Amino acid sequence: MNLDFSPAEKRFREEVRGWLAENVPHEHRPADGAEMRDFDLAWQRRQYEAGWAGIAWPTEYGGRGLSTIQQLIWYEEYARAGAPYVGVNFVGLLHGGPTLIANGDETQKNDHLARILKGDEVWCQGFSEPGAGSDLASLRTRAVIEGDELVINGQKIWTSFAQWADYQELLVRTDPEAPKHKGISWVICDMKTPGVRVRPIKTMAGNYEYCEVFYDDVHVPLANIVGGINNGWRVAMSTLSFERGTGFMAEQVALATELEALITLAGERTDVRGRKMIADDEIARKLAMLRAEVAALQSMTYAGISLNERRGTPGAEASILRLYHGLLTQRLYKLSLSVLGADALERSDPESGWTGPYLYSFSRTIGGGTAEIQRNIIAERVLGLPRRS
Ligand SMILES: Cc1cc2nc3c(=O)[nH]c(=O)nc-3n(C[C@H](O)[C@H](O)[C@H](O)COP(=O)(O)OP(=O)(O)OC[C@H]3O[C@@H](n4cnc5c(N)ncnc54)[C@H](O)[C@@H]3O)c2cc1C
Repeated sequence: MNLDFSPAEKRFREEVRGWLAENVPHEHRPADGAEMRDFDLAWQRRQYEAGWAGIAWPTEYGGRGLSTIQQLIWYEEYARAGAPYVGVNFVGLLHGGPTLIANGDETQKNDHLARILKGDEVWCQGFSEPGAGSDLASLRTRAVIEGDELVINGQKIWTSFAQWADYQELLVRTDPEAPKHKGISWVICDMKTPGVRVRPIKTMAGNYEYCEVFYDDVHVPLANIVGGINNGWRVAMSTLSFERGTGFMAEQVALATELEALITLAGERTDVRGRKMIADDEIARKLAMLRAEVAALQSMTYAGISLNERRGTPGAEASILRLYHGLLTQRLYKLSLSVLGADALERSDPESGWTGPYLYSFSRTIGGGTAEIQRNIIAERVLGLPRRS
């Protein structure tokens, strides 16, 4: 077994590092509003124009056609260079686009994939509903066929960046008589269609990341159904496998950089007696433990990627990474508050500093499937324990 990167991968890393050093924007990323969308799209466009968008996407859809390992190298260098969060491009790049690549027809792929990579269109995800989160298959948003269109009525919730999105990956119930996993369709919904109404929700971090989305007689062409009518559950599982499998790779890799920044902070800050925080045995022990666990996360990420390379798609083990990453992130940011002491109460914006990310870290064991759901998947599909009745 060779655990080292190949000479070609090392050369690729040098090339990535050089480009990022010259091109990472140094302006502050706005945490909300139309300026945030503009910033995220401009940065995406810059990456596309230089040939760095869609590193592992097929070349016929504007990607580079490289390996997932090269994608990982990109993320490692991206975190090291302090490059901005993917932001409003998350859904399009990390699960909407990959779902179209795996399940879309040629028209759907040609209409959207290159535009996502170029930063010309933003996607959001309309899966969760007030009565269907963990139990996604209970969704009730209805779509009825009229001629060559679907007419959609219902409501979604927790739709990240819906107010900035051009398109949505939308799950609707197209056959209410069928067993609940069988009567669902995965639809491309243009967010500007009459009858779509978006109402932003303020988060406890102070920004408006999520929204409620209401559908009132929304007409969508049948041609926008991906993977066939009533076949949406299979397509949705493909979306979730990308979201849980590779969607958070960048953030898993970035955790190492965040931890090193916390260690530096603990070496700079002093307690009321003037002693460095890192000289506190309890804080030093927790930082050391986190460093060991972040190294374990990194090894597990590598192992997951090499398994995906051999198998083609992410598998259920991705839930182990997702859960472990979520719990580690929460512990890291909780510890940052002990290092900051009362200064943690002074916070600037939801995404910079430590307190905003601390508040956001609670969502790490909810979004994309809660910790309990990940544990159920690990128990049943990875360990093969008996299923719940
Ligand atoms: C940051 C963030 C971004 C999000 N973005 C989007 C988005 O863009 N689009 C979208 O569609 N959704 C989005 N969501 C919603 C997310 O997918 C749901 O919140 C999540 O699936 C949980 O559903 P719920 O909130 O309805 O909780 P519920 O499903 O009601 O769960 C409540 C509690 O019960 C537990 N529970 C439920 N079922 C079981 C079970 N079978 N076994 C054990 N425990 C169980 C859960 O773990 C949880 O603790 C986002 C959420 C967050 C936090």
